[in-house]
Amino acid sequence: MDTSNIVGLVIQASYFAAAVLLIMGIKRMSSPVTARSGIQWAGVGVLVAVLATFLHGGPGHVLIENAALIFVAIAISTAAAWYSGKKVAMTDMPQMVALYNGMGGGSAAAIGASALLGVALSATPGVGLTMTQKVLAVIGALIGSISFTGSLIAFAKLQGLMDKTFRFKGQQVVNGLCFLAALFFGAVVVHHMWPHAIVIFFVLSLLFGILMTLPIGGADMPVVISLYNAFTGLAVAFEGYVQQNVALIIAGTVVGAAGTLLTRLMAKAMNRSISNVLFSNFGAGGGAASEIKGSLKPIEADDAASLLYLAEKVIIVPGYGMAVAQAQHKIWELSQALIKRDKDVKFAIHPVAGRMPGHMNVLLAEAGVPYDLIADMDDINPEFPNCDVAIVIGANDVVNPVAKTDKSSPIYGMPILDVALAKQVIVIKRGKGTGFAGIENALFYQDNCKMLYDDGKEAANKLIAGLKAVDGGGGH
Ligand code: NAP
Repeated sequence: MDTSNIVGLVIQASYFAAAVLLIMGIKRMSSPVTARSGIQWAGVGVLVAVLATFLHGGPGHVLIENAALIFVAIAISTAAAWYSGKKVAMTDMPQMVALYNGMGGGSAAAIGASALLGVALSATPGVGLTMTQKVLAVIGALIGSISFTGSLIAFAKLQGLMDKTFRFKGQQVVNGLCFLAALFFGAVVVHHMWPHAIVIFFVLSLLFGILMTLPIGGADMPVVISLYNAFTGLAVAFEGYVQQNVALIIAGTVVGAAGTLLTRLMAKAMNRSISNVLFSNFGAGGGAASEIKGSLKPIEADDAASLLYLAEKVIIVPGYGMAVAQAQHKIWELSQALIKRDKDVKFAIHPVAGRMPGHMNVLLAEAGVPYDLIADMDDINPEFPNCDVAIVIGANDVVNPVAKTDKSSPIYGMPILDVALAKQVIVIKRGKGTGFAGIENALFYQDNCKMLYDDGKEAANKLIAGLKAVDGGGGH
C-alpha cells in the first residue's frame, strides 16, 4: 500500500471515530448527569475531524494547502472562544449560542461560496461539480447565509444592541420577494455559474436572514436560534456532500436533527407553532385575557418562613426571575435548611422555564442541587395536591392556570406546573411585573397564594434567616 492510500485510510478512520464521538456525545447530553462529559466527547470528535482534514494534502503534499494561514485562524478563534466561554455570564448564554451558531452557518455558506466561485472562475467554467453538487452547494449556501445573518441579528437583540422588533407595512411581502429573488438567482447560478449571479445570490440570501429576523420579538429569540441551529446543521451537511467530506455530512446531519427536535420541543412546550414564532408579534402587546377574580395578598418573609417551618412537603418552582436574581445558590441554601429540618424538598422544572432549554437545570446544577431532587413537569404535577407549601421563585407564565381555563389567553393550551393545587403557595417576585407572555397570572389571586415581594436572592436570604429565627438554628 502506498503512502497516499495509508493517509486516505487514516483520514476515513479518523472521520469515523469523529462521527462516533459526536453521536455518543449528543446521546450523553440527554441527561444532566452525563451532559458535561457529552460536550467533551463531542469536542474531542470535532478536534479529531479537524486534525484529519489537515491530511488532505493532495499528491506529493503531507499537509492541506495554506496550512499556516489556517493554523493562525484557528489559534485566534480558539483564544477568542476560550476567553469568551470562560467570561460569559449564565444569563448571557443565549446570545453566545446565537453568535457561535451564526459562525457555523457562515462557515457553511463560505464553503459553498468557495466551491461555486472555484468552478465559476476556473479555466473551464461549470466543470468540476456534478449537477447534484451544484444544487446542494446553492441550497447549503442559502440556508447557511440565512442562519449567519439571522443569528447575528438574534445576538444583537439579545445583547440589547438593537431594538427588539422592527416592523413596517408590507414587510412580509418584501421578505417574500427577497426570498424568491434569492431562489431565482440560485437557479441561475446552478445553470450558468456566472460569477456575478453568485455574488447577487449571496447578497440576497444574507439580506433575507436579516429581514426574516428583524420583526421577531427578542424574547422569542431562543426558539429562533434553535431553528437557525437546525439550519446550520443542514447547510453543513449539504456542503459536506459537495466537498465529499463524510465528517461534515455526519456532523451536519446530527446537528440538523438535534436542532429540529429541540425547536419542536420548545414550540410544543410553549404551545406555539413555528410559523407563529416567526410571523407573529408574541408578548409585545399583552394578552386579551379574561378578568381575574380575587386579590393579591402580600406576606412578610418571617411569616413565609413560619409557613415553611410547619410544612412537611415543599416544592420549589424556579423561573426566569431566579436567573435574573442569580438566586440559585441561595435557593439551594434555603432547601438545605429545610432538608435539615426534615422537610421533603423537590424542585419542579417546566420545559420552557427561563429563556432557553435547560436554563433552570443548568443553574441548579451550578448551585450543586442533586439531580434526584429535580423533577420534570409530568413527574411532579401529581405531587402538588399533597404539597404543603410551593415556593415559586421568579416563575410566572409556567404556573399560570389561565393556560387551562381561559381560551382567550395567548398561553391557552400551554402545559403548566399545577402549583395552583398546592395547599399553600408563596410567590417570590419583585413587584407586579408580568412574565414573557405579558399577561396577568390567576394563581397570584388565589386564596391559597401569598406574594413575597422582593428580589429572588434577597427573599431567599430572608427566608433562611426567618427559619433560624423560628428554631434558633434548627435541624438535628
Ligand atoms: P416569566 O413568565 O418570564 O416570568 C418571570 C418573572 O420573574 C416575572 O414575572 C418577574 O416579575 C420575575 N422576576 C424578574 N426578575 C426577578 C428578580 N430579580 N427576582 C425575583 N423575581 C424576578 O418566567 P417563566 O415562568 O420562567 O416562564 C418562561 C417564559 O419564557 C414562558 O412564557 C416561555 O414560553 C418563555 N420562553 C422560554 C424559552 C425557553 O426555552 N425556556 C424560550 C423562549 C420563551 P417581577 O418583574 O415582578 O419581579
